[in-house]
Amino acid sequence: MRYFIGNWKMFGLPKSINILKKINTFYTKDRNKGKYRIIITPPYTLLESYAKHFKKKNISIGSQNSYQKDEFSSNTAAVSPYMIKSVGAKYTLIGHSDNRSEGDTNEMLKDKVKFALKNNLKVIFCIGENKKEKKNKKTLNVLKKQLVKVLDKKFNHKSLIVAYEPIWSIGTGKLPSAIDLKKTTIYIKKILKKIFKRKSPAVLYGGSVDGKNVEMFKEIREIDGFLIGGASKSSKKFIDIIKNYYR
Ligand code: PEP
Repeated sequence: MRYFIGNWKMFGLPKSINILKKINTFYTKDRNKGKYRIIITPPYTLLESYAKHFKKKNISIGSQNSYQKDEFSSNTAAVSPYMIKSVGAKYTLIGHSDNRSEGDTNEMLKDKVKFALKNNLKVIFCIGENKKEKKNKKTLNVLKKQLVKVLDKKFNHKSLIVAYEPIWSIGTGKLPSAIDLKKTTIYIKKILKKIFKRKSPAVLYGGSVDGKNVEMFKEIREIDGFLIGGASKSSKKFIDIIKNYYR
C-alpha cells in the first residue's frame, strides 16, 4: 500500500473543502485506487467538518500535530489526541521540522507519539536532517537518533508511518539524489526493523514533491509514498502527482 499525504500547514478555510472534493472524485474513478491511500492534514479549525464530510468517502483526515498529554489539561492553545480523535480524525503528524524548530524535543515527541497511539490515532512520524548535518555527512546518524530516541519497541508499529523529510528540501525545490534517497530509505527501514523486531512500518519521502519530479521516485521501490506540502493545496497538482506516479 502506498500513501499520498497532503500537509496543508497554515492554509485552508471551510470552503477549501472543494479541493478535497475534487481529489475524492478523482480517486473514485481512478483504476489504480486499490494501490494507495489519501490522507490530508488540514489545520485544527477544519478537522471536525472535513472529517465528518469524508467519513464514508475515500480521504482520511489527520491533524498536523498533537499535544503530549492525554484528555484535558491547563495548557493554553494545546489540543490533545483525545480531542483530535473525538472529532473524527484518524491520523496525526508528529515531529514535523516546523514543530521541532519551535521547540519539540525528543522527549516531548515520545510522549506525543505515545498518547496519540493510546487514543487510537495513526501516527505519521517525521524525521530529517538539516543542511549542515547533510554537508557534514551526519544524515544517517541524525536519523538514527531521531528514531531510537522517540520510537519505543512497545509502540504499535502497525499504527505508525515514518516520513523522511530532509529539512533542506522542504519548500525549496531541492531533492536528494535517487541513490542517496534509496540508501537512506533502506537505512531507515533497517533501524525500524531493529526497534520493532519485525517488518518495518511504511517509510515515506517528503520535500518539494511535485507532478514532474515524482517520476524519479518510481524507481525507488522502498519508498512507500509521499508527504506533500505545497502541492497538496491544489487539487490539480496533488492529482498530477498520483497520476504521474502510476503512469
Ligand atoms: C512539508 O512541509 O511537509 C513538505 C513536504 O513541504 P513541501 O512539499 O512544500 O516541500
